[in-house]
Amino acid sequence: MIRTGRIIPAARKESIMLAAEVIRKGGLVAFPTETVYGLGCNALNPEAVARVFEAKQRPSFDPLIVHIADEAALDGLAHTISLNDRLLMERFWPGPLTLLLPKRAQVPDLVTAGLPTIAVRMPSHPVAQGLIREAAVPVAAPSANPFGYVSPTCAQHVADGLGERVDLILDGGPCQLGVESSIASMVGSRPELLRPGSITLEEISKVVGPVVRAPKNLTMVAPGRLARHYATHTPLTILTEQEAQPIMPLAERAGLLAMTEPRHSGHRYCSIEVLSPSGDLREAAQHLFAALRRLDAQGFDRLYAEPCDERGLGMAIMDRLRRCAEPLT
Ligand code: AMP
Ligand code: MG
Repeated sequence: MIRTGRIIPAARKESIMLAAEVIRKGGLVAFPTETVYGLGCNALNPEAVARVFEAKQRPSFDPLIVHIADEAALDGLAHTISLNDRLLMERFWPGPLTLLLPKRAQVPDLVTAGLPTIAVRMPSHPVAQGLIREAAVPVAAPSANPFGYVSPTCAQHVADGLGERVDLILDGGPCQLGVESSIASMVGSRPELLRPGSITLEEISKVVGPVVRAPKNLTMVAPGRLARHYATHTPLTILTEQEAQPIMPLAERAGLLAMTEPRHSGHRYCSIEVLSPSGDLREAAQHLFAALRRLDAQGFDRLYAEPCDERGLGMAIMDRLRRCAEPLT
């Protein structure tokens, strides 16, 4: 396989055909979904899966999400599907909800990091759907970025981070949602939310009853919930609700990630990124990772981020910011 990191327009039918062939032959294709760009491979080909881990330098204890285009594909991946799972699929698929299901033996252990469950999602993005259909295999795809860094929300982000480690990049423009899928599990005794995303805890509860937020950092159960993840190279501090501007060391060169247009003047930030001038959480989530990357690229000493209200989509935004702010250990 030729490693080119080549970006091709996803809108062309030939691009999807070519990308599907790369996947079928064991290669890696980065593709857009409604959440972030994924780095896809044939989930049933252990060598291809191993290449995804290698390309991302992802530790093998961190399982991948498997993407499907129709529910028929579940048969080959999971051996039981509970009523709650069915209800959630009916309500939220295709869309940004990942479900943990009891895994079938034929799914390579590397995909699930040896866990007895498999994470499955049906993306709604037409390019993702077209690619999976055409490849005719389930597509394992983590976010298309080096492990631990901010997820990619456009094709150029993928090229910047992975370059020639990916065979092909399908450019479908910027991602609409901008944060990774919500991950829920109906496997245990109570419905659990393992990772907040665009489908909110409140929305899931409406379908399956009370949902508990899984405690942080159960390394064995969901390594993608590591304390530090989605992180910029520049250290980031989250401001308190009251803090318009922190006390900054005199020589410090800092950037601000603002939720809305800053109300105060006379600030000392070298650069400010506003996530949503009108304070719309959907817009804020959509812009979050691109804004973090732009701030990170400027080589500041520190980044500051304003917090947002933790309800609805705000829970996912604050989850990503907290993990970005976690110090390196
Ligand atoms: P991503 O890096 O966005 O593709 O997300 C993958 C994340 O999904 C992992 O880091 C885990 O948090 C979660 N995940 C995937 N498979 C499983 C599984 N079998 N059990 C628990 N969590 C999983
Ligand atoms: Mg990721």
